[in-house]
Amino acid sequence: MSARIQERFSKSMDMRKLNRSVSWRLSASSRRKEDAERFCRETVRAVCPVCAKDKSTPQAIIYGFQYVICKSCTHVYVRNVPPLDRLKAFYENTLAKVAMRPSEDLTQKKLYFTRVKDISLPKIDYVTKSLGKKGVWVDIGCGSGELLYAAKKRGWKTLGYEIDPQEITLAKDVFGLDVRRGYLDEDNAATMLKDADVVSFFSVLEHVPAPSKLLNLVKKYGKKNVAVVLELPRHPSVSAFVNMAFPKAVARHMLPPNHLSLFTDQSVKTFLSKSSFAPSHIWYYGQDFYELIGTVASMAGYKDEKTLNALLDQFNDVQNIFDKSKLCDEFIVIAKRKTR
Ligand SMILES: [Zn+2]
Repeated sequence: MSARIQERFSKSMDMRKLNRSVSWRLSASSRRKEDAERFCRETVRAVCPVCAKDKSTPQAIIYGFQYVICKSCTHVYVRNVPPLDRLKAFYENTLAKVAMRPSEDLTQKKLYFTRVKDISLPKIDYVTKSLGKKGVWVDIGCGSGELLYAAKKRGWKTLGYEIDPQEITLAKDVFGLDVRRGYLDEDNAATMLKDADVVSFFSVLEHVPAPSKLLNLVKKYGKKNVAVVLELPRHPSVSAFVNMAFPKAVARHMLPPNHLSLFTDQSVKTFLSKSSFAPSHIWYYGQDFYELIGTVASMAGYKDEKTLNALLDQFNDVQNIFDKSKLCDEFIVIAKRKTR
């Protein structure tokens, strides 16, 4: 019998602090659409990235990409995936004429410390408390390093890896972090992971066509008692329902080709188990109510700021209901090696 998973629900936030306004959504969705429709012209057919089976049920077509649900493990994934070299160029920021760079929302310096305080510190505190220890934290795909900045502030030794040059520069030069350029692969994994007590993938695994390869490297090269921490888009959620209802207004969550995977409670367990890990803690939260109000307002051209603000003032209460019903669009999963 597997050990009981400790569950936590809801994380209070105010997306208005991050400038996620109706005009942000309109601009982001039109540019995301433009990029996705370029990428969808050349794709390869994918099987389930979790269980490798090929039987699925169609779920939605968004900007030319087909989301399906795996009949075997319930994972939600994109079945027509751009070739790996194109995706790498997208994230390394070497593709010409990209309408919206993947990291655009994350490299706004003036919001950096707001993001650290409101988003990253609570996550670090959660993991630290759940594990009951500190040590070396290695963040794979660390972006501009806000999670590492928060971890360092809380007494962790930190190291990050990233492939987007602009984000590496921001992390190193502006925020003084040890962030290096590099992919987690068979050649680098031993060096990258050898000291890690925690290996984290925050908003990373949904972007890669073969997430199991990365977790297998942690299995192979990580320390015996290494903990893995994942932040992932989850399914089913109110956000996915809204994305499917308004497929022309998608600016996040069910967003191709950025998000090739949405994990379910079942598929994340299968995913971890295949690399001999098992979840010990799961934190359920999301931005579903914001997604719902923002999408409907932008599609309707609704401009009554006073009423919108009155609705968004209720965000934490309404989102709490979605979180507790496990209809939220994100989760953090802490996992340890299976003992047998
Ligand atoms: Zn599957």
